[in-house]
Amino acid sequence: MIKYADWHCDTASSIYETGEHISDSNTHINLKLLKNFDSPVQIFAVWLRKEYYNDAFNKTVEIINNFKNEIKSNMDSISLVKSYKDIVNNKGRVSAMLSIEGCEALEGSIEKLDMLYDMGVRLATLTWNYKNCVATGVMESNLGGGLTEFGRKAVRHMEDKGIIIDVSHISDEGFYSVAEFTEKPFIASHSNCRSICKAPRNLTDEQIRLIGERKGIIGLNMCQSFLNDSGKASVDDVIKHTEHMLGICGENSICLGCDFDGIPSTPEGMDDVTYIKSLYDRFETEFGKDTAYKVVYGNFIDFIKDKI
Ligand SMILES: [Zn+2]
Repeated sequence: MIKYADWHCDTASSIYETGEHISDSNTHINLKLLKNFDSPVQIFAVWLRKEYYNDAFNKTVEIINNFKNEIKSNMDSISLVKSYKDIVNNKGRVSAMLSIEGCEALEGSIEKLDMLYDMGVRLATLTWNYKNCVATGVMESNLGGGLTEFGRKAVRHMEDKGIIIDVSHISDEGFYSVAEFTEKPFIASHSNCRSICKAPRNLTDEQIRLIGERKGIIGLNMCQSFLNDSGKASVDDVIKHTEHMLGICGENSICLGCDFDGIPSTPEGMDDVTYIKSLYDRFETEFGKDTAYKVVYGNFIDFIKDKI
């Protein structure tokens, strides 16, 4: 069995919506499927539908609590991790780490950021697609503006506290503002290359280079419309994006951010998380064993070692 680590899935929000259980939910990721891997590490994002924005903090807490109850009911196979050490000590089980996808839940308050940290959140995707108290998302780029005044305060606090800063979904202006107002490496948890697939959710070559220079991380996204402009993608497209990134930021900055349970469709043949094994084999064939290991697991674990 291989190990894998992945920066982004929406399974926690998905099972909150449907009332299913993580043990056997009808999702890309569940505990039965994860049994095919050796001690996998998965970041579970709390994503909010727009209808929840007016009560974003409380809704986020509800989704976190629902997810924690799921973990409690399955303690023999999954546990919530809050640090590198927790992951290392969690052999044989799934290591689940929490993130928020969009900072709507902060509601302009550093205290709420602290409360989310106390609940286990270790990664913050600064925006989803819209404008929030921290910055502007990619679908409202026209509104302009990088980090807001509160946003600058929030990212400084995240760096002090040990919350990883994530620029996936942010507008281009927001991206460069994050680069300007942060000191530590930051990540794009689930984004591909815009020069291969024009989706604005993808990164430009310059952004890929900058993340690499800052010793950050980019997670490969399996969404068909972020892989190929036609909206239909295969694993060959994943390889194309990987190869392109390798040429710009090198093998130490590329990981997985598959976006399982957050994307409407996956590349042909990739029905669920178990496909990562085949993807690993394909990486090995294309780029060699070392790179395959780094992308599927090693880079993730190296990155978090001195951060959380
Ligand atoms: Zn997303």
